[in-house]
Amino acid sequence: MAYDFDLFVIGAGSGGVRAARFAAGYGARVAVAESRYLGGTCVNVGCVPKKLLVFGAHYAEDIGQAQGYGWTIDGATFDWSSLIANKDQEIQRLNGIYRNLLVDGGVSLFEAHARLVDAHTVEVAGQRYSAEHILVATGGWPFVPEIPGHEHAITSNEAFYLERLPRRVLVVGGGYIAVEFASIFHGCGADTKLLYRGELFLRGFDGSLRDHIKDELIKKGMDLQFKSDIARIDKLADGSLLATLEDGRTLEADCIFYATGRRPMLDGLGLAELGIELDERGFIAVDEEYRTSVPSVLAIGDVIGRVQLTPVALAEGMAVARRLFKPEEYRKVDYALIPTAVFSLPNMATVGLTEEQARERGYKVTVYESRFRPMKLTMTQSLERSLMKLVVDAQTDRVLGCHMVGPDAGEIMQGLAVALKAGATKRVFDETLGIHPTAAEEFVTMRTPAAI
Ligand code: FAD
Ligand code: NDP
Repeated sequence: MAYDFDLFVIGAGSGGVRAARFAAGYGARVAVAESRYLGGTCVNVGCVPKKLLVFGAHYAEDIGQAQGYGWTIDGATFDWSSLIANKDQEIQRLNGIYRNLLVDGGVSLFEAHARLVDAHTVEVAGQRYSAEHILVATGGWPFVPEIPGHEHAITSNEAFYLERLPRRVLVVGGGYIAVEFASIFHGCGADTKLLYRGELFLRGFDGSLRDHIKDELIKKGMDLQFKSDIARIDKLADGSLLATLEDGRTLEADCIFYATGRRPMLDGLGLAELGIELDERGFIAVDEEYRTSVPSVLAIGDVIGRVQLTPVALAEGMAVARRLFKPEEYRKVDYALIPTAVFSLPNMATVGLTEEQARERGYKVTVYESRFRPMKLTMTQSLERSLMKLVVDAQTDRVLGCHMVGPDAGEIMQGLAVALKAGATKRVFDETLGIHPTAAEEFVTMRTPAAI
């Protein structure tokens, strides 16, 4: 049967755009439907604008520290609306680049909501198109628990467009988004409290890092309230919000920001009608090659909920395009040793096993740690300290995990991820010469085990 397209991609986010561009580059006839914004979450309400706001928030520290280097910066003021307007302009520029990438790449672009009609048909803007393969790359959406008054809360989607910086913010959650946005609000000058339901936030990261970043955020003046959760939210007559906590305490705020995870975006997609199965968490269930229970329909990225990171969605998109249209270059995505960073202030980054994971898996481990004051801060009043940690397999000498809290942790971790992928041993780290004077050189100069 002759189809209108070889591949129809639903969603022009990180994964969808990558799959579409590569497939078109391999000669396939490709269409993409996008209902909201080109570039998806990462470009519009995720990685990119988040990082711009983190840069903005960090200037408060830079300005404070400049005095130690002889600068007098009188009358420095901050204007949230300028930051947002400039961010919006940059995102618009990127939207244009994404449009050009698709259109110049020969992809047919439909800027509208798409829905599956059957195993080979998509409906978009009232028209039906057939395709040999359909790729669902519709991403995720913030999940907010349905407590009374939850409609008064905002999520990351709205935070990027706040007209004014709220004076008092309650951030709820203890994952990536909560910690990053708490840093943004606090850095920009809002009175910020972070409420997390468990004993210690950032579950899944190395225990030393979680403790260290907790101490650093408290030192910076952030109010961290663990074992705290909101039971209800009420709007007061003056427009401010009253949060009543599970333990009966009340907190007033101008903004309550929920970062309690993300659900797959399946709204109006027509999956149930086609009998496409979901996994036990509600994400689209796929096999090793991203086929759903209807084999001509594939799914990648946040909507399958494996690892919700842009580079993972990109890798999955590329794998799909190659398997379908350039099989000789096809390689399965390797989910081992995915490096990741939390762009809090200070940054935190990691690759490989945490000390806890390594011990649970039965490794006999040697742990190396370095805690120090970053050189740039030595002539300032800042008390911030960095932490670097290596988890080593005592039997084989292989480095199992690298972990860091401190300036540029994400930048530093990217290179270490290459070393771990290559199977580097601690001896290889030791034999690598440092770049002096940098913070990163600590990773190749740790000699005395902190724990065995
Ligand atoms: P998305 O990028 O979400 O794209 C899905 C697209 O599909 C959207 O554009 C949506 O509008 C469209 N769509 C949905 N339904 C339909 C439909 N029916 N018809 C047509 N179009 C549809 N990851 C990192 O690696 N680093 C970071 O620093 C980082 N920061 C983040 C910060 C925040 C605040 C958030 C929310 C996420 C962050 N992420 C980060 C995660 C990253 O953004 C996602 O993992 C990534 O965007 C997933 O890509 P995707 O292609 O699966 O989906
Ligand atoms: P996460 O899954 O990282 O964190 C969710 C947090 O909310 C956890 O602390 C969780 O607690 C808590 N939580 C979940 N449900 C409830 C509830 N009902 N009540 C109270 N608290 C609750 O999700 P995020 O929303 O922060 O981010 C989504 C994903 O996006 C991330 O996992 C990451 O993959 C990606 N991302 C990546 C970034 C980066 O690379 N820098 C930045 C931002 C997002 P508990 O731990 O107890 O379950």
